[in-house]
Amino acid sequence: MIRTQEDYLESLRGIRKRVFMFGEEIDDYVDHPMIRPSLNAVGMTYQLANDPEHTELMTAESNLTGRRVNRFTHLHQNTQDLVNKVKMQRLLGQCTACCFQRCVGMDSFNALDVITYQMDLDLGTEYNQRFRKYLAHVQEENLVVDGAMTDPKGDRRLSPSQQADPDLYLRIVDENEDGLFIRGAKLHQTGALSAHEILVMPTRSLREEDRDYAVACAVPADAEGIVYVYGRQASDTRKLEGGKIDVGNYQFGGHEAMIIFQDVFVPWEWVFMCREIHYAGGLVELFAAHHRASYGGCKVGVGDVLIGAVQAVAKAQGTEKASHIKDKIVEMVHLNETLFACGLATSYEGVRAQSGTYMIDYLLANITKLNVTRFPYEIARIAQDIAGGLMVTMPSEQDFNHPEVGPLLEKYLVGSEDFTTEHRQRLLRLIENITLGAGGVGYLVESLHGAGSPMAQRIMITRLAELDAKEENALKIAGLLEEPSAQAGD
Ligand code: SF4
Ligand code: FE
Repeated sequence: MIRTQEDYLESLRGIRKRVFMFGEEIDDYVDHPMIRPSLNAVGMTYQLANDPEHTELMTAESNLTGRRVNRFTHLHQNTQDLVNKVKMQRLLGQCTACCFQRCVGMDSFNALDVITYQMDLDLGTEYNQRFRKYLAHVQEENLVVDGAMTDPKGDRRLSPSQQADPDLYLRIVDENEDGLFIRGAKLHQTGALSAHEILVMPTRSLREEDRDYAVACAVPADAEGIVYVYGRQASDTRKLEGGKIDVGNYQFGGHEAMIIFQDVFVPWEWVFMCREIHYAGGLVELFAAHHRASYGGCKVGVGDVLIGAVQAVAKAQGTEKASHIKDKIVEMVHLNETLFACGLATSYEGVRAQSGTYMIDYLLANITKLNVTRFPYEIARIAQDIAGGLMVTMPSEQDFNHPEVGPLLEKYLVGSEDFTTEHRQRLLRLIENITLGAGGVGYLVESLHGAGSPMAQRIMITRLAELDAKEENALKIAGLLEEPSAQAGD
């Protein structure tokens, strides 16, 4: 069983993934300077679970085995579990200032449990039993699982089977008595290289002609036929420069990769949906809702770091007492805590599904995410406002170390005499990292598009808002509808 950060890194060394970056295949992805910060961030999900101060938040009693397991592998058994999940995500965001990648697997488990149970009830299949056996193994080993949903999608006007290339959505291409073979790709895969296993799911609701696209299954991350292509991030090659300051967040960082499945074999025991088209849409919606709620935790934690950095840089620059600076920081806090309030409300309003696993409130989850598509951008704008232009014009770390210009930079780039120039330099680089550097992928663009772009939330909100009931109620209050009980009293 993987218990510590060190165990985790060691376990990955045994998983030989085929990884491509900058046009080359990489031998050692675990120790690669571009990738290691991501693994460190996932490592924090193990480290904090061993910290007595955080054990309660980071672990839970498994309903499958009765044993204490890492919360990232847990099926939520009540609303407190949902609340604890969001609090755990905020804590990890605070500790890493980036995406710690393990939530996609957790949100997939909780969606798959509910949907496979429903399939078994309706169809007499045994998917839930299979899935729970698989999950018990994940819990016992304390594995990191990458939930893989987003297909390339090709021409958005066409369904999966109508595409010029049928592989633009992942599909079943063959099967035999032992299992299935799948082909396709999954894009934007958060934490793909950090994972021990991949949990494949369909990306949209499907019609009869798309039966081969209705597949959910688990595969080892190094299964034969899987290839990873690492995704670029802004300023990513600063990690290769050897310094510790210009990267902004030296220790941690998220990553995304494209995963390509070239006729990958999946044994039947790890297949949790096979051509049941009517359940694909429900699985996508439930997973998305869980992940949208998750953003009410993780993005808030990163926001906490950004607010802290802004407060500190204001002090380093001598602006912290200016009333407009104080007011702008209050605005950042207000926006950040509003996101947290949304994540918590979504959890407190959670309901029990038939499988016993708890689901978040769908409407509030979508409201949470729609706010997440906006507030971090506004928080980042204020952060850049307070930080000032030096954040993007400051010379490199190497220049600060140069014998001739280094001392000149020290002299001219100092702020308040109470702080060193390096203090200011590091804070500005951290703000740069989160708001427009490598960290901006997770804090901003992922806030916009992750777990579905804003329009996806608007569609769900339209569907769930009960506008007809609201209208009827308004008509009643306006005296436009007869009230039967009022008449009876007349
Ligand atoms: Fe978790 Fe947030 Fe990263 Fe998604 S974006 S995996 S919710 S930390
Ligand atoms: Fe995400």
